[in-house]
Amino acid sequence: MLNRRFAEMTNHESVIRKIFMYGKGRAAEVGYDNVFDYSLGNPSVPVPASFNKAIEDILATRDDLTVHGYSPILGIDEAREAVAASLERRFGVHYRKEHVFMAVSAAGAVAHALRAVLERPEDEILTFAPYFSEYKPYVEGAGGRLVVVPADIESFQINFEAFERLLSPQVKGILVNTPNNPSGVVYSAGTLRRLAQILNQKQLEYGRSIYIISDEPYRELVFSGVESPFVASFYANTFTCYSFSKSMSIPGERIGYVAVHPDSEDAALAVDVFGQISREIGHNCPPSLMQLAVAQCLEETSDLSVYEENKKILYQELTNLGFCCVEPGGTFYMFPRSLEPDDAAFCERAKKYDLLLVPGSGFGCPGHFRIAYCVPTEKVKRSLEAFRRLARDYREQG
Ligand code: PLP
Repeated sequence: MLNRRFAEMTNHESVIRKIFMYGKGRAAEVGYDNVFDYSLGNPSVPVPASFNKAIEDILATRDDLTVHGYSPILGIDEAREAVAASLERRFGVHYRKEHVFMAVSAAGAVAHALRAVLERPEDEILTFAPYFSEYKPYVEGAGGRLVVVPADIESFQINFEAFERLLSPQVKGILVNTPNNPSGVVYSAGTLRRLAQILNQKQLEYGRSIYIISDEPYRELVFSGVESPFVASFYANTFTCYSFSKSMSIPGERIGYVAVHPDSEDAALAVDVFGQISREIGHNCPPSLMQLAVAQCLEETSDLSVYEENKKILYQELTNLGFCCVEPGGTFYMFPRSLEPDDAAFCERAKKYDLLLVPGSGFGCPGHFRIAYCVPTEKVKRSLEAFRRLARDYREQG
C-alpha cells in the first residue's frame, strides 16, 4: 500500500494548476490570444545572454567529467566562493565559501533550512500571510507545523500584534518571503528591524536560537525607487535561501543556494548539516553545469523591466476601477481585494471574461486574488477591457 498521507494529498490538487489547465482547455476553444491567464508565476522574459554564453564557454573549455559529473555534496568550491564574495560585496555581510551551500533552487534551499531547525513534531515554523501556498507541504514534509500569522491587509507588511501573540517556545523558525509572493510587497527596513528586535528578545527569553529562513527568489525583482533591504543584515541567525529561477528566467535549471550568516549560532557547522540532510532527502548535488554557469554571471539578471511596465498598467487601471490594492514594490504579482468577500466566487465570475485569477484563500488571505503578470505587455493591455467588464458586472448585478 502506498503512503496514505501522499495518497490523500493527490485529492487536493493545486488550485493554481487547476486554473492553468482550465486556461489551456479554454485557449483550445477560443484561441490563446483571447485567454488572459494570470495564474502561473512562470518568468516570461528571455534569459540573460551572458548566462547562455557562460554555458557555451564552459562546455568548450572544461572537461566533461567536471561539467557533467557529480557535484561535491556542499557544492562546487568555485561557485560557493563566487556566491560568498558577491553577497559580501553587495550587502556587506562577511560570507565565506564555508557559509554557502549550493542547492536545487529555492525549494531545495528551503527544504534544507527547515530540516536544519525542525526536530520534533510539535516544532513550529511561523510565516506571514499572504504566503506562498507551497509552504504548508514544505514545512509538514520537514516534520514541523506551519503557523500562519494573519495579514495586515492595509500594507502587507508584518502584523506584529498577531505575530507576538503567536510566538511561543514551540517556534523554531520564521519563514520570511520578501519581495513577496503573492502581494508583491517588499518589507521595509523598519519592518525587518522590528522583526529582528522581537526575535532577539525572544531568543534571550527562551534561552535558545530562533532562525529566520529568508526565502528570496524575487530579491532582484524590485521596481525603481523601492528599497529592498537584505534580511540577513538585520538578524544574525538567518539562512538566506536564494534561487536564480526568477532573476534569470531559469526555473527549469533548478539552481540556488543557502547562505548561512557568518555570525549565526553554529555557523561553522550549518553547511555540513545541510550536507547530511541532502543524504537523507535526495535533494542533493545540484547540476554541476548550472553551478559553474551561475558562478560566472552571479550579478546578471534578465531584462526585468517588462514586469514593472505591466505592474504600472494594471495597478493604474485596477485602482481606477475601484479595486483596493497595495501597490507592489517588486516581483510579478499583485494581490488586490476581490469585489466580493468570497474570493473563489469572484475568480469564478472572472472566468466569464476569460480572466484567470487565483483566489487569495490559498495564500492564507481570503477576500483577495492574485494576478501573476508575467505575461506579454500587449496581452496585459488587451486584458484591461476584461477587467472593466468584470467591474461593471459587479456594479450592475452586485
Ligand atoms: N518560494 C517562493 C515564494 C516562490 O514563489 C517559489 C516559486 O514560485 C519558490 C519558493 C520555489 O522556487 P524555485 O523554483 O526556485 O524552487
